[in-house]
Amino acid sequence: MMERGAGVDLLAILNNLTTKALSGQKPTYDEALTVLRSKDDDLMDVIAAAFRVRRCYFGKRVKLNFLVNLKSGLCPEDCFYCSQRRGSDTEILKYTWLKPDEAVALAGAGISGGARRVCLVASGRGPTDRDIDRVAHVIGAIKTAHPKVEVCACLGLLSDGQAARLRAAGADAYNHNLNTAGERYPSICTTHTYDDRVDTVRRAQRAGLSPCSGIIAGMGERDEDLVDVALALRELTPDSVPVNFLIPFAGTPLGTEWNLTPQYCLRILAMVRFVCPDAEVRLAGGREIHLGSMQPLALYLANSIFLGDYLTSEGQESHRDLKMIAEAGFTVEGLDSTKPVAVGGPERVALRQRGAGTDLPPNA
Ligand code: SF4
Repeated sequence: MMERGAGVDLLAILNNLTTKALSGQKPTYDEALTVLRSKDDDLMDVIAAAFRVRRCYFGKRVKLNFLVNLKSGLCPEDCFYCSQRRGSDTEILKYTWLKPDEAVALAGAGISGGARRVCLVASGRGPTDRDIDRVAHVIGAIKTAHPKVEVCACLGLLSDGQAARLRAAGADAYNHNLNTAGERYPSICTTHTYDDRVDTVRRAQRAGLSPCSGIIAGMGERDEDLVDVALALRELTPDSVPVNFLIPFAGTPLGTEWNLTPQYCLRILAMVRFVCPDAEVRLAGGREIHLGSMQPLALYLANSIFLGDYLTSEGQESHRDLKMIAEAGFTVEGLDSTKPVAVGGPERVALRQRGAGTDLPPNA
């Protein structure tokens, strides 16, 4: 491994990574690791290099995705990061399958907000054939009303024939994350395996569904584990790669894992961009919590975000997401505006009425 500070020229490595990514070549393990281990002071160099790759494949477009949690909590699996796991003490909403009309209406709200992909998610180990019927009905209704909007299903481990039935119902994509490196999988879940997850991604792919598979960072893994899972994802050739940053829900085994800094989150996104250069890299759960006011910088790396709320936690208000995208000079995919908007206006000028010269305390 090339150590930073031991004579390694980071700019030369970044240049090489960019050249490789622009021609679809795989970075070496050490190159990917170097991105994660670069210093905070070098962050803007890392972002600038990865942005060249993002811009080549996706311009400055941001795709918006909208989650509909069809069935929440009550899961028999024990994924340590998940607030819906069995025995979870997290006080999340728990409910069984939404009525189809409710699901379609929620999807419609996300689409009205600008989403170009709807992700239909259900807790559980995997769907029964009856569950597939239920979801197929919802998919059909959404596609009829919004033929240009992509529908992705995320229902857990798939068994024989289920992926094909979802595809026949009109689903465009299937999400199933690898989450972490294969060798670490038993430390984040004991009720299914990493190989089970790979199998489901492959089933979806074989059935003609666009594979969506990503990671959760911040679960106590090493830098090497993140590189391992990113390289494993590259082998699976997913079309989209969600990058989640662990939301340490109180009441889950990983509820005290507050390890991520905004700078490290940005380096993770850059590393994933270099490893999967032409994939839709999606800034996913935990972005608001871990990136804070650095979120706009993530748009230079990821070309896709979730709009609105997550499965069991609330996201940034959708109008703030749209404002963030516009202010950063990016455009929402599918909307016509191509020019950065001027965000200033008279309503933003607040005349001071506190502090010096008043009886009110200062803004301090
Ligand atoms: S991640 Fe999915 S399978 Fe695992 S506990 Fe949560 S809902 Fe269940």
